[in-house]
Amino acid sequence: MTNWQELAQNYFMNTAERIPVTLVKGKGAWVWDDKGRKYLDFVAGIAVVALGHASPVIAEAVRKQAKTLIQVSNLYYTVPQVQLAELLVKHSCLQKVFFCNSGAEANEGAVKLARRYGHKYLKDAYEVISVTGSFHGRTLAMVAASGQAKHQEPYQPLPCGFVNVQFNDIDAIKKATTDKTCAVMLEPIQGEGGVNLPKEGYLKAVREWCHQKGILLIFDEIQTGIGRTGTLFAYEQYGVEPDVMTLAKGLAGGVPIGAIMAKEKASVFVPGEHGSTFGGNPLACAAGYATLKYILDHDVVSNVKKVGQRLLEGLKKLKQKYQFITDVRGLGLLAAVEFNREMAKDVLMACLENGLLVNRVKPGAIRLMPPLIVTEKEIDEALRILDKVLAKFA
Ligand code: PLP
Repeated sequence: MTNWQELAQNYFMNTAERIPVTLVKGKGAWVWDDKGRKYLDFVAGIAVVALGHASPVIAEAVRKQAKTLIQVSNLYYTVPQVQLAELLVKHSCLQKVFFCNSGAEANEGAVKLARRYGHKYLKDAYEVISVTGSFHGRTLAMVAASGQAKHQEPYQPLPCGFVNVQFNDIDAIKKATTDKTCAVMLEPIQGEGGVNLPKEGYLKAVREWCHQKGILLIFDEIQTGIGRTGTLFAYEQYGVEPDVMTLAKGLAGGVPIGAIMAKEKASVFVPGEHGSTFGGNPLACAAGYATLKYILDHDVVSNVKKVGQRLLEGLKKLKQKYQFITDVRGLGLLAAVEFNREMAKDVLMACLENGLLVNRVKPGAIRLMPPLIVTEKEIDEALRILDKVLAKFA
């Protein structure tokens, strides 16, 4: 039997600390490795696989589109791109869409859009304020935007035009705003930073400030969007509308895609100023349309609310049981469990041995983000495995 992991060492760049398991197939919330072992997947491709693995809905949309038209570029119109754009606009507070291929690319485009807005309306203002603990992607500019030193230090000097201030501190944003500021960029809930929720009133205060100053509010909903938190977009839960929003991850249920959405007034690109060869290709957009339509037609967000609550309640019970759990937090199907020491890797490996995939989001915290179609029974099974695993650390 081929040892794929050994073979990979010969060829892969050393960018990721991979879990020693080779996954070969999936179905719903489950995946199988090359030895035939089955795992309950509470990572879901890092909050991506919205409809679960091997979704027949997505498989059929991709099969049909692949046999029809895969790629023609944005020199032309294509039907799936228009259909997906229309669906996104009809179900959000934004009016215009640009499609690309990943989260980082969507955020790059959003910052370009904000700079164009600054040139047009704010006397060439170009600076973007972001916050500590945020994560906006791995391109150089997004590394500069992300408020995490570990991602920045290896790549100095970073592109200029980004100011990082303390998360959850409206006064810090106010103090950092100058006549050079064109936008504030935030995740409504920080995902990679450890599932950090905004303080009561924070997002509303930022919204009000941006409005007052005439600068753009960009919400990075790459992780929180497309139903993950129990509403289609997280901004709905906080009663705050962004001027610009970025999406990726769950948008096409696992097929690579990204999107920038903007209010009419913020949609300031003119032809030639931004683009992408693959962005909005018919294959990815057909997958996106099928995913989003399924989520809307089957009220998947109600399932997220229901099972998400069950997950959080179950995790809170575990917190009462195990003193070494210091915090349980989350919304919908995005949750984190924080420990009093750096034991997340050990917990992850013990979960793996017991047939559950979880993510180490920080040395001392794990993150759970199953597919949006996960059932109550599967939530209970994950909680049962986690309880069994944690008992060994008590
Ligand atoms: N923004 C947020 C909030 C994310 O969670 C991520 C990925 O984890 C990104 C941006 C980057 O997305 P991608 O990895 O598709 O470039």
